[in-house]
Amino acid sequence: MGRFDGRVAVVTGGARGIGFGCAQRFADEGAKVAVIDLDESAAAAAAARLGEGHLGIGCDVSVAVSVDAAIERVLGDLGGIHILVNNAGITRDNLLFKMTEEDWDLVMGVHLKGAFLMTKAAQKHFVAQKYGKIVNLSSVSALGNRGQANYAAAKMGVQGFTRTLGIELGPYGINANAIAPGFIATEMTDATAARLGVPVDEFRARNAERNPVRRVGFPEDIAATAAFLCSDEASYITGQTLYVDGGAKLVS
Ligand code: NAP
Repeated sequence: MGRFDGRVAVVTGGARGIGFGCAQRFADEGAKVAVIDLDESAAAAAAARLGEGHLGIGCDVSVAVSVDAAIERVLGDLGGIHILVNNAGITRDNLLFKMTEEDWDLVMGVHLKGAFLMTKAAQKHFVAQKYGKIVNLSSVSALGNRGQANYAAAKMGVQGFTRTLGIELGPYGINANAIAPGFIATEMTDATAARLGVPVDEFRARNAERNPVRRVGFPEDIAATAAFLCSDEASYITGQTLYVDGGAKLVS
């Protein structure tokens, strides 16, 4: 018996990286998973990799009509919604004096507005059934990171959003928590390596060296945390941000 038998989990940005890792974990533990991603074919391919009975949906989480249509498809095709992981994310890094208004808006749109729209669309079903689990992806960058004024602001915003969800939704059987990952080996961090002109292996090795546990993180590290926070064992935890970073925050 799996911890998520009979549950439907929605994971945004689920076609790859941390999102796919979470989708895989929920599927392995019995959930039906809706993989939401910008590109419908990538979402469908990821859902197929999870096995039978999962769903891939093309959706831009920063656009309300797209989000509402996606949630309707989840309800129609999978029969309900119990877990929401707001994971979709982008970076548009630059030093403040070079950061464009467009890059500020894009990052805010995906991380903050996206989490807001998805959560608003899901919570009415969670409230009605008096059950729901929400995990939002923050980041150690929330504490401040050179070249990431937009991303850091959005990721700290996610923490404030999560605390407020904890207060407002707690009385309805809904838990909302955030995970703040440190360096996780995904295409997002590989793209940062490319931008800095450093080979991916070297970039990962440098980050591992600086980390107290002497390794980088993997999507499975975040998926295990998300699964715990969405399990009934964690029902007395809400509004929290858990740093899953190998201790990076302790030494930065
Ligand atoms: P990733 O490999 O770049 O994957 C992000 C996924 O989100 C992609 O499939 C992307 O689709 C999708 N996406 C982007 N914009 C979207 C939108 N508007 N609507 C729907 N889907 C969208 O990133 P990751 O490293 O797995 O990161 C996942 C989350 O963890 C992000 O919120 C990130 O900020 C956070 N995080 C990551 C790290 C890390 O070290 N990797 C550390 C801390 C926090 P496309 O490919 O089509 O763009």
